[in-house]
Formats: sequence, C-alpha cells, structure tokens
Amino acid sequence: MCMTCGCGNGQALIGGQALRQQRKAGGALRFRVHKADVQAAEVSVSRIVKLEQDLLAKNNGYAEANRRYLSAQGIFALNLVSSPGSGKTALLVKTIEALHGQQPLAVIEGDQQTDNDAARIRAAGAPAIQINTGKGCHLDAQMVGQAMQRLDLQDDSLLLIENVGNLVCPASFDLGEAHKVVILSVTEGEDKPLKYPDMFRAADLMLLNKCDLLPHLDFDAGLAIEYARRINPELQVIRISATSGAGMAEWLEWIKDGCRNAVAAKIPSPAGGRGLG
Ligand code: MG
Repeated sequence: MCMTCGCGNGQALIGGQALRQQRKAGGALRFRVHKADVQAAEVSVSRIVKLEQDLLAKNNGYAEANRRYLSAQGIFALNLVSSPGSGKTALLVKTIEALHGQQPLAVIEGDQQTDNDAARIRAAGAPAIQINTGKGCHLDAQMVGQAMQRLDLQDDSLLLIENVGNLVCPASFDLGEAHKVVILSVTEGEDKPLKYPDMFRAADLMLLNKCDLLPHLDFDAGLAIEYARRINPELQVIRISATSGAGMAEWLEWIKDGCRNAVAAKIPSPAGGRGLG
C-alpha cells in the first residue's frame, strides 16, 4: 500500500498485518502489546481501508465516464504501465512514428515531475499532455478525464496513456481504458510478474521490451513469460525492441485491430457530449 497517495487494496498494510500476527502469536511475543494500543491501531486500519474503498469507488465513477465518452467517440485507449526505465516512452515514440499518417492518436503522459516525456512525444509528431502527479504514484481517472478534455481528441482515434513508472498502485486504478498493457524489459528480473502479480493480472498484453539486449544478458525470456502466464493465463505477449524494430509489426497490428474494433463497437452517447466528470 502507498501511504503517500492513499492508494492500494489494503492487503499489504504493514500495520494491519503486524497487528494480526501479534494477536495470533499471543504469549509468544517478546514484547508486550497493550489492549488500548491494539484497539487504536485497529480503528486506524479500518479507517484507512474505508478511505481506500471510497477512493477507488470515486475513481471507478470517473473511469466509467471516461469509458462512455471513449466508446461514444470510437476511441481506443491503452493504459501503459511498467517499472521506471522499462523503455515505455521510447516505445511510444517508435509507435507514433510508425503510425504517422495511418492513425490519428494522442498521448497522455504521467510522471511525478517534469514534462520531458510529453516533449519527446510532441517532437515525434503527436499531441501530448503531461500530468505531473507530484507525490502521487499513479494516474487516476479524474486526472485522465481532464487531460482528455484538454487534448480535444479526434473521433476514431488512438489514445495512449503512459502511466507513472510503478508496478503497484496503477494496477488498482481503472482509467477507463480498453486495456492495460504492461511493459517488462529484459534488463529487469524474470520474476517481476511473481513479485507484482496484481499488475500482470490486470493487464491484457505484456510487451517484453529491449529484446535486442538478450544476447548480452543472463535473462531467460521463456521463464519470464511462464511466470507472467502463471499469474494471468490469458495474457498475450509480444517480444519487442524499440531499438531494433523486432516485434513492432505485431504490436502495431494489435493496436490497429483494437482501433478497428473500437470504431465498429461505437456506442453513440445519448447526450452527444463528452460526459466526463
Ligand atoms: Mg516515460
């Protein structure tokens, strides 16, 4: 759980877990826990859990408004998530260059600070808006809805949302996207899917990035994919390299399929407007 921004599902609450363990251990504890302290801690834990539930419920409302708008306009939206340094922005730049003239698109960039990534995306030829989350470690649906309004999205277009580099908190926050796409680079550990299962469970596609570096690394790509599918058997996987271009054709075809499906499944909004919160 992230105590800074209040996100998370509460299962990793250190205070709550320690509390339960202490109560189970009873007399075996090497220190005394006063009943009043335990009760106060329990109240705090239950308040935090309630806050989290309220936060996620509020987020889900905004996410549904975003999804209704995107569906009405035939816009295919992807939420790109990964650890910092996985190569998301470089991959986006290559994707934008490859789709130039074929597919209208726009980008929402999420980072804690700086608009460096949005500047890279604009330099590649796509409209982009940066969201700085400050101390927050994820994008939420309200921020994305506001960014969508500012971007003035085209009908039947592609919206790429680069989330803050973090494999934990963004898993819990629906932004109204069609799919979460998780990027795992071969410079990370093969066991990332086991360490951060929520994200790999929430994603529909995994891009195994920087595959051009495989000959120089002790990274078992097959094992990484096996771990990811142990968490999510339905997970699609594309081995890719923004540098060499390997896998790009398959990734672009996956995007184009999604865009075609979004246009075919377009549900006109009764209000005709954006309907965003
Ligand atoms: Mg980036």
